[in-house]
Amino acid sequence: MPLNIPEIRYVACFSGDDGIYHCGHCHGSVSDAMKCVVPDGGSFVRALEEGVFRSLNEGELIDFLEALSTMPWSAHAIKH
Ligand SMILES: [Zn+2]
Repeated sequence: MPLNIPEIRYVACFSGDDGIYHCGHCHGSVSDAMKCVVPDGGSFVRALEEGVFRSLNEGELIDFLEALSTMPWSAHAIKH
């Protein structure tokens, strides 16, 4: 068992007029970071691994999509 398991954190990112912003937190899971995502289409979740931002990998993307359907602002949750 490795003693040093790389610590992965997740942040919500927002694309602004002059670059990318993130929420400034260190979320422990994708679904937690999604609480900071603003449903305006310009937000997404990125992983922060060893101080480097990277895109979500396949497994994390599945977490993202699963959490997405539970968000109150998700299209799945909107009742007309
Ligand atoms: Zn946050």
